[in-house]
Amino acid sequence: MGKLIIKDVEVSGKRVLMRVDYNVPMAAQNGQMVINDSTRIKETLPTLRHLIDRGAKVVLMAHLGRPEGKREASMSLRPVAVMLGEMLGLPVQFADDCIGEAVEKQVASLKNGEILLLENVRFYGEEESNDSGFSEKLAVLGDIFANDAFGAAHRAHASTVGVATVIAKRGGACCGGLLMERELQFLGDELENPERPFVVILGGAKVSDKIKVIDRLLEKADVFLIGGAMAYTFKLADGICIGKSLVEPDKTEVANAAIIKAKQKGVTFLIPTDNVIADPVDTGRKNRKGRAIFDLQNPRVNTARDIPEESEGVDIGPSTAAAFASEISKAKTILWNGPMGIFEDSRFAAGTFAVAQAVVDATKNNGAKSIIGGGDSVKALNVAGLGSEVSFMSTGGGASLEFLEGKELPGVAALGNAR
Ligand code: AMP
Repeated sequence: MGKLIIKDVEVSGKRVLMRVDYNVPMAAQNGQMVINDSTRIKETLPTLRHLIDRGAKVVLMAHLGRPEGKREASMSLRPVAVMLGEMLGLPVQFADDCIGEAVEKQVASLKNGEILLLENVRFYGEEESNDSGFSEKLAVLGDIFANDAFGAAHRAHASTVGVATVIAKRGGACCGGLLMERELQFLGDELENPERPFVVILGGAKVSDKIKVIDRLLEKADVFLIGGAMAYTFKLADGICIGKSLVEPDKTEVANAAIIKAKQKGVTFLIPTDNVIADPVDTGRKNRKGRAIFDLQNPRVNTARDIPEESEGVDIGPSTAAAFASEISKAKTILWNGPMGIFEDSRFAAGTFAVAQAVVDATKNNGAKSIIGGGDSVKALNVAGLGSEVSFMSTGGGASLEFLEGKELPGVAALGNAR
């Protein structure tokens, strides 16, 4: 059964306590914290406008960074309140805390259609431990609980689960916001019975992060396209020399199992036939984690089966990009998670951008539903300026992957069912 959504709940004059994902990237500038990317704030505007238009009293909860249960000035949500106000063209009040008498007073003085953003819930360690006393204190601030923070729904915290439990016990509605509704629709319903051909594109750093997603989607997909560093584990499993490429040698059996399953299910399963390679040269410098920094020199296309010992695969090659684009052009449903190469370096971004363009073309020309499963593929599409030309880009990273694995996310499970 579907989940209860805010548009099916009577909110006029009610205090709607809503969890949002305002974990935005910030940096210090002239002694002040400045928001670098406001996408997460923008994503909540439809739900907020819906609530304002219907005269709800909106109380927003969110976390920012990892303050580990302590007040940390650089992780205050105050700058978010300012930016949200600018985006809405309305005043947004800010509470200096997320629980306690002063906050309760501020909530009590809210008029219909007004918004109050609470201070970072992670200033309390009880947030992440899903403490029941802390959940009670949050829950006194709302009549209705709403959750628009899909990106935080894979964690059972007080502001995502505990508070919902308290409000539900009191008989209050617990529902998803409009963004949550879209996430559940695209990552859930649309992929349940996808229109065919259904093409899954997976890339990124590691096979191990995506084993369960691969296994589950092999049940549904017609075509699997594998790029990124992940592909080298598949190549190694096939006895191909992968030089210094990023690889998980202990996951070759998993890779083989996926290939066997694909054959059994009749899924077309493509791994790169050519690659962009480069030679890693130690710079003698170390990164913040103390690991050696390598310069990737002499980038070139490698069409041979093996990658030279001294080289590293950093992107899919042009023939692979063309083969992938050809499969994508026939798709009616596309799910993409993970870049095809080290796209952050423009020398190794061509494969990822070619796939991005093919996904956009299939969306436009074929009416394909194109679903971008969060994380770095969303970043890549935005860098390519193509973010608005796909059907849906998930706002969740880890949450999207867990959802695609078929797990029920605790923050989703805590919501009531559709009436
Ligand atoms: P993920 O979070 O698993 O989707 O991984 C994304 C990261 O994978 C990005 O930072 C890419 O730079 C990285 N990546 C993709 N392809 C490669 C590759 N061939 N070698 C090393 N890293 C890669």
